[in-house]
Amino acid sequence: MKISPEIQDSIETRFADLARGKNRPGERIISLGLGEPGFPTPPEIVEAAHQALRDGMTRYSNPYGLPALRRRIAQKLQDDNGIAAEADDILVAPGAKMALSLALGAILRPGDEIINITPCYPSYVPQIKIAEPDCVVRNVDLRKQDLGVDVAAIAQAIGPATRAVLLNFPHNPSGRMLAAGEIEALCSLFAEHRCLIISDEIYERLDHGDIAHFSFASRPELAGRVITINGFSKSHSMTGWRIGYLHVPDRDIMRTVSRLQQHLNTNTATFIQQAALVALDLPEAFLDDYNATLRGNCALLQRAVAACPNLRLTAGEGGLFSFLDISATGLTSDAFASGLLEGQSVAVTPGVVFGANWDDHIRVSMAADRATFAEGVDKLAAYAGSI
Ligand code: PLP
Repeated sequence: MKISPEIQDSIETRFADLARGKNRPGERIISLGLGEPGFPTPPEIVEAAHQALRDGMTRYSNPYGLPALRRRIAQKLQDDNGIAAEADDILVAPGAKMALSLALGAILRPGDEIINITPCYPSYVPQIKIAEPDCVVRNVDLRKQDLGVDVAAIAQAIGPATRAVLLNFPHNPSGRMLAAGEIEALCSLFAEHRCLIISDEIYERLDHGDIAHFSFASRPELAGRVITINGFSKSHSMTGWRIGYLHVPDRDIMRTVSRLQQHLNTNTATFIQQAALVALDLPEAFLDDYNATLRGNCALLQRAVAACPNLRLTAGEGGLFSFLDISATGLTSDAFASGLLEGQSVAVTPGVVFGANWDDHIRVSMAADRATFAEGVDKLAAYAGSI
């Protein structure tokens, strides 16, 4: 296998280890770094997995996934996302990350170009390069002043070699969601081209602003070209369970996705699929509570940053994160994050992890409970004041 230089150890994992205090035994680290919801997996889901094991769901299953789960996911996509999904368009994968890898593996050919919005989830570029080492990644930055989508820059980057545009809203790391104007501009741009759209919607259910989530596959003029990625990690706090899915309307692409799944994973763990089926039928009061926590944490961060002359914040609207502009401190993101960890025992993620042009930002996770988050933000403000 050709290992491209872009495929390095996951820096995010290194910082997550630091955040867990793994490298600093005995020291209490406040983590504003992690990408996992702060609530436990709902007990009904845990019990469903136990029951499935007792019922003998311990064997291989269909590579596409349990038929009942695929039907239920198609129903969810119809009801929540306005996507004309059928069960045959769904494949259940071990995590949204693997769903994305299967999609990239199925569509990319040598010389293809893919448009990637930066800052981005740190696994995107390695995943593209694993799928096709000779794919050209065209990074397009969000606008620095407001972390808005630069539709004109995307329009400039799209060309005849563009195989796909990779989008992720709610966005990791900025917490941005798409505004109505951005949605319309992007949809009309995509309507003029023949490229695929890969829409990673893993943070869909974590919305703490006033903006409604949008799925590109809900637009009939684009629907046949949109691959939607989603999963249970963030919506049901099931990060360690490893289950996600993809919706692929194109049957040729889906056949290739299925072949990759057969040879790479065989299937997603059968009893975990059964638990996911139960998850989709749970009342979502737990999410309302958690989104209220995120909303409160976000407001708290905004208030604290407003009092720090060398920090600037475009507040998060969805997902777990806010992306803080630290350019006025004059520090690199790594130096800022290391200084904060050394001086105040608070872990954040340096912006450079999300793209070379983002060394003047840090990512703050709002996943922690209110008291822990408030303590972490106080220390962050104290550190910024000391620079
Ligand atoms: N996509 C984005 C944007 C993410 O931030 C993450 C995880 O942090 C994933 C995908 C992976 O999700 P999963 O845990 O379901 O593989």
